[in-house]
Amino acid sequence: MEYSIREVARIIDAKTEEITDTSISILLIDSRRLTLPEQSLFFALKTKTNDGHKYVDELYHLKVRNFVVSELLPEFNLMKDANFLVVKDTLKALQKLTSFHRKRFDIPVIGITGSNGKTIVKEFLYQLLHKDFNIVRSPRSYNSQIGVPLSVWQMNEKHTLGIFEAGISQPDEMECLQPIIAPTIGIITNIGEAHQENFLSTTQKCMEKLTLFNEAEAIIYDGDNGFIANCIESSCLSHKAIVWSRKDSEAPLFVESIEKKETETVIKCTMLGLSKRFVIPFTDDASIENVMHCLALILYLKPTSVSDESKTASLEPVDMRLDVKEGINNCLLINDTYNSDINSLDIALDFQASRRVNKNLKSTLILSDILQSGTLPKSLYKKVADMVRRKKVDRIIGIGRDIKEYESEFDIQKEFFRTTDDFIKSVTFKSFKDELILIKGSRRFHFERISELLEKKVHETILEVNLDAVVHNFNYYRSRLKPETKIVCMVKAFGYGAGSYELAKTLQEYRCDYLAVAVADEGAALRKEGISIPIIVMNPEFSSFNVLFENLLEPEVYSFRLLDAMIRETERRGITSYPIHIKVDTGMHRLGFQPEDMAEIGRRVKEQSGVVVRTVFSHLAGSDDPCLDDFTNQQFLKFEKAAAELEESLQQKVMRHILNSAGIERFPGQQMDMVRLGIGLYGVSASGQKGLRNVSTLRTIILQIQQIPSGDSVGYGRMSFVNRDSRIAIIPIGYADGLNRHFSNGGGEVVINGKRCPIIGNICMDACMIDVTDIDAKEGDRVIVFGEELPVGELSEKLKTISYEILTSISPRVKRVYFRE
Ligand SMILES: *Cc1c(COP(=O)(O)O)cnc(C)c1O
Repeated sequence: MEYSIREVARIIDAKTEEITDTSISILLIDSRRLTLPEQSLFFALKTKTNDGHKYVDELYHLKVRNFVVSELLPEFNLMKDANFLVVKDTLKALQKLTSFHRKRFDIPVIGITGSNGKTIVKEFLYQLLHKDFNIVRSPRSYNSQIGVPLSVWQMNEKHTLGIFEAGISQPDEMECLQPIIAPTIGIITNIGEAHQENFLSTTQKCMEKLTLFNEAEAIIYDGDNGFIANCIESSCLSHKAIVWSRKDSEAPLFVESIEKKETETVIKCTMLGLSKRFVIPFTDDASIENVMHCLALILYLKPTSVSDESKTASLEPVDMRLDVKEGINNCLLINDTYNSDINSLDIALDFQASRRVNKNLKSTLILSDILQSGTLPKSLYKKVADMVRRKKVDRIIGIGRDIKEYESEFDIQKEFFRTTDDFIKSVTFKSFKDELILIKGSRRFHFERISELLEKKVHETILEVNLDAVVHNFNYYRSRLKPETKIVCMVKAFGYGAGSYELAKTLQEYRCDYLAVAVADEGAALRKEGISIPIIVMNPEFSSFNVLFENLLEPEVYSFRLLDAMIRETERRGITSYPIHIKVDTGMHRLGFQPEDMAEIGRRVKEQSGVVVRTVFSHLAGSDDPCLDDFTNQQFLKFEKAAAELEESLQQKVMRHILNSAGIERFPGQQMDMVRLGIGLYGVSASGQKGLRNVSTLRTIILQIQQIPSGDSVGYGRMSFVNRDSRIAIIPIGYADGLNRHFSNGGGEVVINGKRCPIIGNICMDACMIDVTDIDAKEGDRVIVFGEELPVGELSEKLKTISYEILTSISPRVKRVYFRE
């Protein structure tokens, strides 16, 4: 839907100069997501970690002409033909505009909140109701202060039902979201400990969440959850309660029995006095609870549709991850198993574009028919063709009758097949090479067969790296620093074992200022993959000058010998002003100049023009240990003095940095111009900070389970005997993968199905054995060696070492798999 820019200005109460009236239809908040500049209205949002005003100039050059800003920067004056709508708070303006938009529609709108399950309930409802309604819903988990407005903005006259989720992490946030969603029906899934930091109590959090339902006519919840029931009772909301319960036979939806079978669950209940029997293809409690919310909702909204008991049997699991995996012939595969609808296609294509830093990779989309869209096929595939063109996809492979029928809409390199089978048998299938392939299909098309065949086969032990967690941790530290403090992200040692390239790309995307690697070759590899931000090399070798200069890598210079060599080499090559970083040894006694060398460095640098000193820095020896604080403070003093002397002798200001991760946590006052973030990025806090997220999970699977009679031994050297009849699982990870052999014979544990189990016997080179006698486990089950449920810190403590060593010891043969949530 379109709005004229004058109308928008009026709605959000903006101050404006002269306006050139145009219409806009797209709300843009992230400059990287730009698609149609003429129709976009950019909101320059200020967040804890970034400021949208910085990107106005860039967007103006990309032809965006409409901006909502909170300050008029001097450079905006030059953008004569642009409209600037000035408001006090750009986020509030975004919310105001979208609440206005919401008020134009008089359709049932479901608002979902709670700690867990919001997205799943939303997607289940969509699956169950899309034949009865034309539904608009939040894409993925767009449930934040920004995500909710963007979700609601999608509403148009054709929709007959809205389903939106709302999540909060602070008091007062729900108050802002309520008028935007203005739900007529509310669902509260459950209340747990998540996002508790900013609330006084769980009750406060729950009451706050309930304000979403201020104007709802009905609320759906689990009546057996006494806590939620109490909160709702004391909330003074006037509404109809649609409670489901296993205990109260008077409840609108009374659950008589829940019977779990091997792969499905049978639920018997009474609704409106009628007995019903539903089968669902899940057996876990969370899914059962989610389905109950949906049944209660449907009972209220469209009772006729619950009579179809078979619908629940075909519910499909909701998987919201985008997996990136290595494929055959140098391809990269992005698997999106989330429902294939046009919004999620949009998001997946953005993700694909952001991964395409290596320009040699051609971008290919494998797309199935889009089911359940509620739009006529012709206009749907026209839209898809449009989107694919805009997002610069090079080639599309369409699979399915519908998409094939509209193949003429697509004007890029294209091929179409009726079925997945036809495609797999085709010549095309055998010819993928150097491509970044997005695989996106409705579940019915079984695209997992395509990805299985295209995936590079490896050993079943993988290190799974959560890139969103890396971003979270990066922002966590950034929020602790002054906005002007620059951050160097340490991706040395193959990104602390997590893989430097994917990490570097993600960090570059989130605008980290600098990367640092250990040796020049690591930096060159990053450049080859398209990393363009500055890179510091911490241990440059004299033999690596070529690699250094060719890849614009900035060396740490720690001695006169290296300084002179740099000067000589730059002059010989005719290079001027090549940036270097001076390292001062203030007590670590590793590499570095002595503090007294500063005047001499200044003298030598001033005499030449080959190099310039970009920064001066030092490294702390004990920033994580309070017992060493006296020593650390001395290091600060020595550094301060040395840096001042260097500036004095160079007659110029030089950026300073000394803090590593633990330093940022414990001495924020010493952040200076820049900090060097290492282990914290990877989710490990030196001082026990709670706000970080786990990044890496080392996991594998059970290959075999053996029944071992009491009295037998397990493994090499017969080091472990069992004293009862036991079940022993064999897993394909050994010391050659980086599983330290000291974990043998009960020294270490793994987690299987949420339970800890001891390692039994000596760890072998490629395998080890686990005692699973006490738990429910079968062949093929997942095994976690470390991760969220078993923190790296626990492993390192057992070995009397540090997390750094555990992380960097994982062998290169363990495949790294990256995902975003
Ligand atoms: C590795 C390293 C860092 C990062 O240290 P963390 O403890 O991982 O944050 C910072 N500075 C230098 C010089 C380093 O070598």
